[in-house]
Order: sequence, then structure tokens, then C-alpha cells
Amino acid sequence: MLSTLASSHPCTNRPSLPFPLRLSPPPFLPLSRHRLPLHSCHSCHASPSPLPNSSASLSLSQSNSKPHPPPPLTTLKIAIIGFGNFGQFLSKYFSQQGHTILAHSRSDYSSIANSLDNTIFFKDPHDLCESHPDVVLLCTSILSAEKVLRSIPIQRLRRSTLFVDVLSVKEFPRSIFLERLPPDFDIICTHPMFGPESGKYGWNGLPFVYEKVRIGDSHERVSRCEAFLNIFKKEGCRMIDMSCKEHDEIAAESQFLTHTVGRVLAEMRLKPNPDDSMGYDTLFQLIENTCSDSFELYYGLFMYNKNSTDLLDRIYAAYEEVKKDLRRMVQGILRRRLFGTTGVGELEDPAARCEAFLESFNKEMVDLNENAAGVHFVALTIGMILAKLGLKPTSIATKGYETLLKLVEDISSESFDLYIALFMHIKNSNELLDQLDISLAKVRTELYGRLHDILRRQLFDQPGIISNVHN
Ligand code: NAP
Repeated sequence: MLSTLASSHPCTNRPSLPFPLRLSPPPFLPLSRHRLPLHSCHSCHASPSPLPNSSASLSLSQSNSKPHPPPPLTTLKIAIIGFGNFGQFLSKYFSQQGHTILAHSRSDYSSIANSLDNTIFFKDPHDLCESHPDVVLLCTSILSAEKVLRSIPIQRLRRSTLFVDVLSVKEFPRSIFLERLPPDFDIICTHPMFGPESGKYGWNGLPFVYEKVRIGDSHERVSRCEAFLNIFKKEGCRMIDMSCKEHDEIAAESQFLTHTVGRVLAEMRLKPNPDDSMGYDTLFQLIENTCSDSFELYYGLFMYNKNSTDLLDRIYAAYEEVKKDLRRMVQGILRRRLFGTTGVGELEDPAARCEAFLESFNKEMVDLNENAAGVHFVALTIGMILAKLGLKPTSIATKGYETLLKLVEDISSESFDLYIALFMHIKNSNELLDQLDISLAKVRTELYGRLHDILRRQLFDQPGIISNVHN
């Protein structure tokens, strides 16, 4: 019906489409509509609160009577551009709060939109923009964000529209917004630091990072910005006002590391234990949280963190060190048993203590559950790798990163002796270490393989446009 309306309109430009679900108050029109961008169809705008005519507006501005400020916005018309995994997740919460969702995506999600309250899917972004959303929320993959932003017909939006993004990196969307959006558009860059898995039981206490990059000082624009942020406040998010720069400094590395660990562990195909007494259910949640996100998202974190290749190398080096420590100690214990000494002065005491621990551990652990012990061993190995990387708590940790910090905490409270005891006790511990090696290599190969592919396409299929690697 929408496209029929659009095509039957007499004007060569498209009309504003009547939208049945409008919940937000009338748009805030500037007094002088004639300053609207040339491309917009002024004469045909079916604006919900049209100014009667220019002389009326003149007399209004000339009279000294101060109009009451409009009531604060409670419901918004929010366009979600990129209606994939995260876009749909957000839209459920938005619509439950009574906001109207206008969705658009590369794929056709009409039937999903139809199943949601207050949500309509627009195949054509022109139609969406002509419905004049209060807010345009960019929710595409990091890598496609610039291309998608360029494809939005912003000339069809109201002159003042609020643009928001939810990308997991922040300096990049901030700079493309500032570069591409006209100065009359407001901008907030945000990062809800949770996803469809970690936020599936609600958003209470979860961090929401935002920077008000550019908000006009009129009451309407300030109130629209607050109405948008209120969505997250109302859900109980921990609201963190932080610059995009600071966000990236703090979070780029921790996010990439969290996703890498989750993906490496997923590759190992560890099995959870129904009666998890070790508390490693969070480890499996980490796997679930990170692997339910697309590879595209992980790849975006890789591409937009300048330290990611270095970090991958450091993970490898830390893992090699853990294995070296482990083998050195095992060899030391064996030498003590054979010759009564390790032959290495500094290893003498730790090896003696570890041997004693092994004996008591063996007596107590007759009924050791091999699978549970295997998970415990892998968790300790990861904890040791992370400890060698020098993981630090941050003010904006995701649930996943908190799990990593907990692993580091565990290894500092559990002794290296226990690690050796588990290594000795579990039949396939060497196999587990090999699997970890293979999984790390697989994840790294996937990342570099993709990088290689993209660059090859850029260099050989379309020579001369090396600078744009996002398509
Ligand atoms: P994603 O893989 O990062 O993005 C998927 C979205 O990007 C889909 O809407 C997809 O459209 C669109 N897209 C991908 N390639 C495209 C292209 N070449 N052209 C046009 N559109 C393209 O997964 P996501 O989890 O939905 O994340 C969306 C955004 O939210 C990302 O920027 C991510 O960093 C951010 N974020 C995600 C989470 C999370 O936990 N998932 C949390 C915080 C922030 P189609 O589906 O139509 O193909």
C-alpha cells in the first residue's frame, strides 16, 4: 500500500507517507520551512503540524507572547537501519515501551516486523525517510556502516533529525556521522554493552555508554535526546557518559579479547556438566554470548582495534609460556622422583611442594569426573594465559569480560600445584592442550584469511580503490 501511495502521488518528489502507528507528538518544525533542503517536497508535506502560512508565522514571531514549551517527548518514532540480530533485539524493547519502529535492512524482514508490535518494515529507504522518524538508529555491521550511511536519503528526513549509532566501536561512527550529516542533525554515539544473549533476561545494571556528540540547544532537540536515552534508563541500564575516544581506548582490546577467547573455546567443543560445581557455567555463557554474534561483528572488532594483530601474537606467546611452565614443572617432579633432585636450584622447592600436593590430590580424587576436570583444566589454562597478558578491570566491562577477569582471579586463588595435579590426573590433558593450539590457530587463520580476501578483491578486482575495504 505504501508504494502504491508513493507512486500515485502527483508530485515528482515523493510525498510524506501517512503512517498509521504514529505515537510521537508532532514534529518540531522550524519557523522558516523555506530553509528545508531543496530535495525535500515542501509543498506536498503532509506534516502533522503544518504552520498555517508564512505571514502567520511572522505574526507569531512578532508578537511577544512566549508559547509554552511543548510537553516532554514520551514516545518516539525510531527508524532502525540494519534490522539484523541486534536491531531486532533492540526493537522489541523499544516497541514494548510504546515507541514506533520503522525498520529497514538489506534483507527483507517484513514478516519479522509484522510479528512485532508497533513495527513496520520498509523495503525502500526513501519511504522510510519520508515517514519522518524522530530518530535514525544505525545498527548495521561495523564494516558496512559507512556504505549504509551513504545510502540513506537524508534529504527526505526532517531538517533536524537525531542520528544515533550502536556500533561496538565508537570513534569510527562518530567521524563518519560528523563528516556526512548536515549540521542541523543531532548526533549521539552509543554502545549498549550487551547483546541478545547477555541481555536476554533484561538490561538492568548493564552498561550503556554514550556520547552526546552534537545536540542543538532548542528545548525540542534536548528533549528528544533525553527521550531516547530514557529508553535505556527506564530499563535500568548503567548509563555511562563517556567520549568515543575513551570508549575505544578502554573497550576495543577487552572486547576483541573476550570474543577471541569465546571463539577459541567454542572451537574446542567442551561439554558442560549438568552438575557444575566448579562454577564454570559462566564460561559456557561466554561461549554462547560470543558465538551467537556474527563473525562479521567479531571481524569488525578485529579491523577497528589497531592492536588486534599484536594482541593475537601476545595470546600465542602467553600460551607458549604457560605450556613451558607446565612442562618444566612436570619434568622437575619426574627428575626428583628418579634422581632425588630436579637439578635446577630455583625449581627445587616448588617441585617438592607440587609433588607432595600431587600425592594428596591423588588420594582424594579417586572419583574424579574426567569431563569436569577437563573443563576446569582448560579454564585454568585460559586464566593463566590472561594473567600473563596482564588483564585489567575496566569501568565498562561486558559480562563476557567479567568472566575473563574471574578466570584470572581463580588462578590467583588456586595454586599452580592444582593446575599440575589436574594435568597429571586427566588422561587427555595433552590432547586438550593440542586442541587449544589448533583452535587458536583456526580463529587466527579465519581472521587473516578474511583480511587477505578483502584486500585481494580491492587490489585485483577493483584496482585503484584500495582505501575502501568495507564493502
Ligand atoms: P552484525 O553482523 O555486526 O550486523 C548485522 C547487520 O548489518 C544486519 O542488519 C545486516 O543486514 C547488516 N549488514 C551487514 N553487511 C551489510 C552490507 N554489506 N550492507 C548492508 N547491510 C549489511 O550483527 P549484529 O549483532 O546485528 O550487530 C549490529 C550492530 O550492533 C553492529 O555494529 C554491532 O557492533 C552492534 N552491537 C551488537 C551487539 C551484539 O551483541 N550483537 C552489541 C552491541 C552493539 P541484513 O541482516 O539485512 O543482511
